[in-house]
Amino acid sequence: MSKIYNAAIVGFGGQGHWHSFLLNKSDRINCIGAYDIRAERNEVAANEYNLHVYNDYEDMLNDEKVDIIIVATPNDVHHDLVVDALKAGKNVICEKPVAMNSIELEDMIKTAKECGKLLMVNQNRRWDEDFLIMKEIYQSADLGPVHRIERRVHGAHGIPGDWRQYPEYGGGMMLDWGVHLLDQMLQMIPEKLKKVYCTLSYVTNERCDDGITVISTFESGLVYVVEVGTSNFIPLPSWYMLGRDGTAIIRGWGAQDGEIVKSTGPDGEVVPVLTANGITKTMAPRRDDTIEHKPLPTVDKCYGVFYKNVADVLDGTAEQAISNESVLRVMRLMEAAFKSAKLNEAVDFE
Ligand code: NAD
Repeated sequence: MSKIYNAAIVGFGGQGHWHSFLLNKSDRINCIGAYDIRAERNEVAANEYNLHVYNDYEDMLNDEKVDIIIVATPNDVHHDLVVDALKAGKNVICEKPVAMNSIELEDMIKTAKECGKLLMVNQNRRWDEDFLIMKEIYQSADLGPVHRIERRVHGAHGIPGDWRQYPEYGGGMMLDWGVHLLDQMLQMIPEKLKKVYCTLSYVTNERCDDGITVISTFESGLVYVVEVGTSNFIPLPSWYMLGRDGTAIIRGWGAQDGEIVKSTGPDGEVVPVLTANGITKTMAPRRDDTIEHKPLPTVDKCYGVFYKNVADVLDGTAEQAISNESVLRVMRLMEAAFKSAKLNEAVDFE
C-alpha cells in the first residue's frame, strides 16, 4: 500500500480552504492542521474543517507528524515561510507566485537542495481543461503552422479589496494571473522566447497593475499575446489560435463554448460583401463549402494529479511535474515584462 503523507497549511484564507477541500479527496496526502495569523481563520480551520490549529508557525514546524507544509499566504511572506520550513526538515508546497522575484526564488531552490527536501510550486493551471485542449491542438498541427495565439482572462471587478492591491505584499495582476498564463505559454511552446513587450494598466489602482498585456515573440516568429484585464465589462474570448489552415477558439472558462474552423481546400471564387461604405472581397467570409466546423478535442480531466505527483516524488517513484527550473523561467519572464513596461520597449529574453 502507498504511503500517506500528512500536510499542514499556513495561511488559511481562500486558497488555504481550497487546498483543505481538495485534500479531503486525496488518497495520498492527508491534511491534519493549519495556522493563520488571524484568529477567526483558525476558528474556521478548527470548526468547519476539523483541523488541528497550531499556536504559531514554529509549533507547526515542530510537529513531527507533518511531512509537508503548504504555504498559502500573501506573496511577500512566501520566501521566509518556505525557507524556514525546509530548514526544519519539511517538504513544501508553495502557492504561486512562489516568490516576489527571481533572487528570492533562487535562494529557495538552493535551500531545498541543501536540505534535501521537496519544493513544489502550485502552478495548478497546467491541468486546466481549456489549456490542455489548446496545447493538444497546437501539438497536433491540425491548424497547420500556428503563427499567433491570444490568451485572455477578463473580469470587471478591479483588483479584489485585499493585499492584492498593494505592491509591498506582492499584489497586482502580473503576479496574480499573469504568472498562470505565462506559465501555460512556456509549457505549450517548446521554443526559445526571443522578445517580450509589455504594457500595464492602472485603471482602478494607482500603485498596482490591474491589467497586463504581454506580447512574446518566439524563435520561429510565433507571436503569443497574454492579457489580464479587470475593467473588461465585455470579455474577449479566453483562447484564440491562428494557424495557416484554420482557427481555434474557446470563448469562456470551460471547454463547452469553442470550436475549430478549418479550410477544406482551395478558396474558390470569393463573393464580395457589402460593408458600411463599400464592398470588400478581402474581408468576405469563407464560403461554407470551403470550410469545416470541428468540435474541440477532448482531454483527460486530470483531477488530483498535483497531490499524487507530490506523493510520488516523495516516494522516489516520479520526477516533479512542476520543475523549479520551469518556475524560475516564468519568474524571469515576468521580470523581463516589468522591465519592458518601464522602458516602453521590447526587451530580449533568451
Ligand atoms: P487570502 O488573503 O484569502 O488568504 C491569505 C491568508 O494568509 C490570510 O488568512 C492571512 O491572514 C494569512 N497570513 C498572512 N500572513 C501570514 C503569516 N505570516 N502566517 C500565517 N498566515 C498568514 O489570500 P488567498 O487568495 O488565499 O491567496 C493566498 C496565496 O494563494 C497567494 O500566494 C495567491 O497568489 C495564491 N492563490 C493561488 C491560487 C491558485 O489557483 N493556485 C488561487 C488563489 C490564490
